[in-house]
Amino acid sequence: MASKRFEESCIFCKIVAGQIPSKQVYSDDDVLAFHDVNPAAPVHVLIIPKEHIPTINDLQASDAEIMGKLMLAARKVASQLGLAESGYRLILNCGPDALQSVFHIHMHLVGGQKMGWPPFPGDAQAH
Ligand code: 5GP
Ligand code: ZN
Repeated sequence: MASKRFEESCIFCKIVAGQIPSKQVYSDDDVLAFHDVNPAAPVHVLIIPKEHIPTINDLQASDAEIMGKLMLAARKVASQLGLAESGYRLILNCGPDALQSVFHIHMHLVGGQKMGWPPFPGDAQAH
């Protein structure tokens, strides 16, 4: 079996490898979930594939299963942290307009207070 994709310079690959500490809330063979170091909500968890995939733009058909597993992990984490009834939001930022800052796919799970919608206007003009 091919080894999992790993990127030496990636902070989330280092978290998966245990080289950088994190407050884990869920782990299985393919997925890791941990609290965001700079939470934007009362509950802010990042759910990531253990394999390095930089952005949604890099996804291939063979990644369909892992992306489904991120969703299933989100359901478990939401239930575990008491958000299943009150609600939560799942966010995947891709690229500059979405302010992606870590280039290892991650799903934000945020909740614990009422949110606004939509997430516009941002800081810049439309283009
Ligand atoms: P993005 O803007 O790329 O969608 O989100 C990246 C997220 O990763 C940010 O919310 C940021 O706070 C979080 N983050 C960045 N570095 C670390 C880290 O070393 N540990 C943890 N737990 N979160 C991190
Ligand atoms: Zn990575």
